[in-house]
Amino acid sequence: MRFTRFKAAAAVMALAGSLAACGSDDDGGSDPEVVEDAEFEAGTTMAELSEQGSMTVGTKFDQPGFGLQGLDDAPEGFDVEVAKIIAGAMGISEDNITWEETPSDIREQVIEDGTVDMVVATYTINEERAQRITFAGPYYNAGQMLMVLSDNDAINGPDDLAANPDAKVCSVTGSTPSEQIKEYLASDDQLVLFDVYDKCADALSNGQVDVVTTDNVILAGFVSESDGEFKLVGEQFTEEPYGIGIEKGDVAFCEFINQTLQDNQDAYVEAWESTAGQVEGAETPELPEPAPCS
Ligand code: GLU
Repeated sequence: MRFTRFKAAAAVMALAGSLAACGSDDDGGSDPEVVEDAEFEAGTTMAELSEQGSMTVGTKFDQPGFGLQGLDDAPEGFDVEVAKIIAGAMGISEDNITWEETPSDIREQVIEDGTVDMVVATYTINEERAQRITFAGPYYNAGQMLMVLSDNDAINGPDDLAANPDAKVCSVTGSTPSEQIKEYLASDDQLVLFDVYDKCADALSNGQVDVVTTDNVILAGFVSESDGEFKLVGEQFTEEPYGIGIEKGDVAFCEFINQTLQDNQDAYVEAWESTAGQVEGAETPELPEPAPCS
């Protein structure tokens, strides 16, 4: 058994207990509003989805705090709550959302081939991706960091990696951190890639790798569930603005998503505080200004 998912399930159970005390719903979320008589211009994605009364959302299933599959199959986390806010504004309740596990490398593909209506999955907005899909947002600004075993004193930031060429660094295929870390490595042989981050966390725990690198908030989730086994080191060394991926050129849907988040800032804060905000030291973000849709 992959111990991280097992431990994650235990952590979710513990979290569910504490969340009940903060007035959130009992599945670890924030209960966003579902608009009753949402009306939209004919022909728009919003009209189509609200008429259908359901939608499919791509998210992560292995990332504590952002998208982690719980005991009842539905994922939990900040990305999941952000998706619920957007669905709710189209009159779609969480029971009518189908969650599709979407590892980093297939995000553009599942949008392009119509498997999902949108992707909310710690998804950094960048130009290369924006050639293939449209991004709404940003809705959060993360940054890349390193995670090591707590007793590792040799690696204190990315500048220590080339000086320790035997240290293996784990990340995920198709992620921005897996590309950005290369400039800090003695050679590409130092890099180990999996499809999802909990495999990197397992490999760190087993001693197969020495470092895991991705966004600070993803790593903070793994640190928080590791019972002191893992720690974050150094400073954040990139900027990772998270966007919501939708079909290329669907400007009306993009503008609707941005407006919905602007109009639901209390729900946004509650979404954070009931999920990623539970991690020790997490600071509640302010919703960033949206970028123009294209
Ligand atoms: N935000 C980065 C990315 O979009 C890393 C996290 C992830 O792989 O989901 O590639």
